[in-house]
Amino acid sequence: ELKTPLSVIISSAETLLNGAVNDPSSNMEFVSKIERHSKNLSELIKDILDLSNLESKKEQIKFIKVDLLAIAKACIDELSEKAKSRNIQVRIDSRESAEVFGDEKHIKRAVINLLDNALNYSDSGGNVVIEISGDSLNTRLRVKDTGIGVSKEHIRRIFERFYRIDAARSRDTGGTGLGLAIVKHVMDLHKGYVLVESEPGKGSTFTLVFPKS
Ligand code: ADP
Repeated sequence: ELKTPLSVIISSAETLLNGAVNDPSSNMEFVSKIERHSKNLSELIKDILDLSNLESKKEQIKFIKVDLLAIAKACIDELSEKAKSRNIQVRIDSRESAEVFGDEKHIKRAVINLLDNALNYSDSGGNVVIEISGDSLNTRLRVKDTGIGVSKEHIRRIFERFYRIDAARSRDTGGTGLGLAIVKHVMDLHKGYVLVESEPGKGSTFTLVFPKS
């Protein structure tokens, strides 16, 4: 996973140095390859570090009361440009704010990963809804999309590191294959879990479940 973007960066730089830099018909192509693959590499390293921090539990985790509605709004804000550029409507469906006891930064990371996936695996004109609800036992945050969906054979495996159904689509959208592994770890840390329901061609719903006690 690290080798592929690195070798593209090295070979593009070498091609430029060997003369392509003076060829106006191809030099920009190599420069943009270097830019794209460096960005992928940077995302990948960030995700690997996050995952390793979550696994080693070295990082000091602060559990405080956090508002899921506020987190959902912040995540939508953060990805609003991407949603706009992909022509996907994102909205929140929640009657009231819902508080859970947890680590704000990690929960936000999990919601960003789910929302980012909902945008990456939906086509133009799609809809994404974040639903927040609760009962006496759990508080739930759902990210529902009308995207390409996940078939049964893959559902069991998508939380594994680097497991991608369509590696090319994942890479094109800047995916690292680690997003859902991070979500799973974040929910383990909160003694909760993540559920997925999906139908190919219709869409997917990922639910973060936070137990109340
Ligand atoms: P990636 O960086 O590739 O998106 P993830 O761990 O976030 O990695 O997801 C793993 C794989 O699960 C993705 O490559 C994609 O095939 C599938 N997937 C994740 N979320 C969705 C979704 N909302 N709709 C369809 N497929 C999804």
